[in-house]
Amino acid sequence: MIVTGGAGYIGSHACKALFNAGYMPITVDNLSTGWSEAVKFGPLEKVDLLDQPALERVFGMYRPCAVMHFAAFSQVGESVDDPAKYWRNNVIGSLNLFETCAAYNCEKVIFSSTCATYGDHDNAVLAETSEQRPVNAYGTSKRAVEEILQQMSKSAGLKHVIFRYFNVAGADPDGEIGEFHKPETHLIPLILDAIDGKRDAITIFGTDYETHDGTCIRDYVHVCDLVDAHVSGLRWLENRGSDRIYNIGSGTGFSVREVIEQASLVTDRDVPFIEGARRPGDCSKLVSGSELAHVELGWEPKRSSLDHMITDAWRWHQTVGYQG
Ligand code: UDP
Repeated sequence: MIVTGGAGYIGSHACKALFNAGYMPITVDNLSTGWSEAVKFGPLEKVDLLDQPALERVFGMYRPCAVMHFAAFSQVGESVDDPAKYWRNNVIGSLNLFETCAAYNCEKVIFSSTCATYGDHDNAVLAETSEQRPVNAYGTSKRAVEEILQQMSKSAGLKHVIFRYFNVAGADPDGEIGEFHKPETHLIPLILDAIDGKRDAITIFGTDYETHDGTCIRDYVHVCDLVDAHVSGLRWLENRGSDRIYNIGSGTGFSVREVIEQASLVTDRDVPFIEGARRPGDCSKLVSGSELAHVELGWEPKRSSLDHMITDAWRWHQTVGYQG
């Protein structure tokens, strides 16, 4: 099966989970933000989703029966500054992929969407049925891809499972792969950088939100739990389950300050931080209701306590990471 973005953080963990479940993951990645060293569980095809003829060659060569689609730009702040980049890459790239799937009778698609498609909901816990009103181009581009997939299910028979996931954290407990972005923008790796002196301090983006301590609340889910859900979603489609959308999160929200405190406890080190302005495009609170995935896929998060996630991230953080 094809895994787009298999050289990235979540995609590489998905490849490991698929390999362990008996599948052969073929990574399709342009290596713009991914790492060839992260592709350890199957072949790498260095292809950009905007290059449809190259994509068709890969499909012709491997004749996949399913696709897991992770390849996308995913930074909220950047998407506010440069929305066109997000629309072009995330939407046109996905459209090319889905058209190629249809042309090669690859009719099972697992799509990586996001809680950012919901936008702000007055601090409510979000269900799959909650209205989607994204507040940044990352969220709007992902919502558009969801719609394309839903329409192409009807027109071209692309059976799909859409996962809207919350904040992914942690790393492979075996230490083979982990989160490594350049530049890094995500909260937990930045905190770990600040702890071990790779940066002076972490800036808290906004302390005047209407939350219990004024900082944003997010629902963090362990990357291994997330990719387990993807394998279950694939099995769901293989067993002729119909099109689905599932939220994937732990169901518990933590504020930025709480994440900093927990990181300090896990590592037994101080976290240097400063209080800064809000980051444009941020919602105050995003917390998942993931009941549907529990009920239909039997999905249970196993490592998604903050303690587990930070412990695994910290172990990975102390390795050399990827070189280039
Ligand atoms: N955040 C922060 N400082 C940083 C990076 C992130 O305060 O240097 C906050 C951010 O505003 C959000 C939360 O941490 O409330 C998670 O942000 P991240 O970029 O990790 O994920 P996102 O929620 O954007 O997908």
